[in-house]
Amino acid sequence: MKYRAYTLHNFREIPQVKKLPEEYLFDIEVVARVFPFKTNNYVVNELINWDEVPEDPIFRINFPQRGMLLPHHYEKIASLLRNGASEHEIQKVAFEIRMELNPHPAGQLDLNVPVFRGRRLRGVQHKYYETILFFPSQGQTCHAYCTFCFRWPQFVGMKDLKFAMAEIEPVIEYIKEHPEITDILFTGGDPMTMSAKLLRSYMEPLIKADIPHLQNIRIGTRFLTYWPYRVLTDPDADDILRLFEEIVKSGKHLSIMAHFNHWRELETRALEEAVRRIRSTGANIRTQSPLLNHINDHADVWSTMWKKQVKLGMIPYYMFVVRDTGAQHYFGLPLVRAWNIFRRAYQQVSGLARTVRGPSMSATPGKIHVLGVSKVNGEKVFVLQFLQGRNPDWVRRPFFAKYNERAIWIDELEPAFSDKFFFEDEMEEIRQRKIKELAEIGAI
Ligand SMILES: *Cc1c(COP(=O)(O)O)cnc(C)c1O
Ligand code: SF4
Repeated sequence: MKYRAYTLHNFREIPQVKKLPEEYLFDIEVVARVFPFKTNNYVVNELINWDEVPEDPIFRINFPQRGMLLPHHYEKIASLLRNGASEHEIQKVAFEIRMELNPHPAGQLDLNVPVFRGRRLRGVQHKYYETILFFPSQGQTCHAYCTFCFRWPQFVGMKDLKFAMAEIEPVIEYIKEHPEITDILFTGGDPMTMSAKLLRSYMEPLIKADIPHLQNIRIGTRFLTYWPYRVLTDPDADDILRLFEEIVKSGKHLSIMAHFNHWRELETRALEEAVRRIRSTGANIRTQSPLLNHINDHADVWSTMWKKQVKLGMIPYYMFVVRDTGAQHYFGLPLVRAWNIFRRAYQQVSGLARTVRGPSMSATPGKIHVLGVSKVNGEKVFVLQFLQGRNPDWVRRPFFAKYNERAIWIDELEPAFSDKFFFEDEMEEIRQRKIKELAEIGAI
């Protein structure tokens, strides 16, 4: 199968799109001026059910939706388009709108990038002790773009790609000096958009370095949803599988951190075959997804998805809460609904799928797990805990927030029984220490 991408410039050539009402196409034109838009022939021909468009969840995963823009933002772009404004004018307004949509959430750039030998280590984030993220510079695109992606600014050229890195050697040196690191996660974008040769050029030195405390290599990817042919019919498909085998043979655990939003992504022959092939290399596949309004906001969608994943040999891992960026107003759900969807889905699956944890918010201090709603001394509260924390000692200490039916993110929650959350002072100390560290090397 030959890969073909569709973007704003050629999506009207898709035969199934030509049959849609013009008003949908106009909405796509408007919203795709602000958010990234890319789909491909596999998604279009094998995943989307065109009889169900525009409600089809897979359609909504790739094709920009009108509701992703606030009404006044939509109107601004729509009227420019209607009046034949120049692309330059449209891009100027689009940029202003993006700046209003919190394009850089959770302090990722300043707080997570480590300082190593007097310099910021580009292309790396080290937030939790045991795991570092590595962003190889050639892996910063995807086989298709998710409408809800929290890394959306990078795909519209807002984040300069300097945060990514072309070399693995400094990362290897960093890992050697940090015995607490057991895991490296290759991420993006999607590292599986790289050729086998490139991927090998990163993996091989890492394996050869033979660092005893580095036990697990993870690849964060969505190719199983967007391009399973990556390991089936792409010219270097077999080279990828051989590389995976070598990693496993070297004694490291290789985990593919796959991303699925809906059981409908698990129904094709290509997907089943791709999963089978990856598993035959000795790699494991773990799965994660955000909970998305309009796409997977029903417990049955999740329980069906987790069951099917387990049946195919994958390990359900995380359910995330939509982050506070971009079209959060469209895709986000109140935390109380997220909890209800999670627990109703979890109740329907056997223990093999109960490896999944969530709903979890990836916030500045850590991954905050919504354990649920309870009553303490007659007061309704949220019970929360950290699954990961900037300070590992925060993990698994239940804490409380005042019940709030509408809250969709941690910053809308207020502490219960106290005027501060227990971690707030330490979080501030961590922030001050980082600012001092960056000032010392002249980075700020
Ligand atoms: C989620 C996450 C990790 C990995 O956490 P695990 O719980 O080990 O999967 C690492 N770094 C960052 C910044 C993360 O958000
Ligand atoms: S595949 Fe991942 S990085 Fe790429 S657009 Fe989707 S969520 Fe974002």
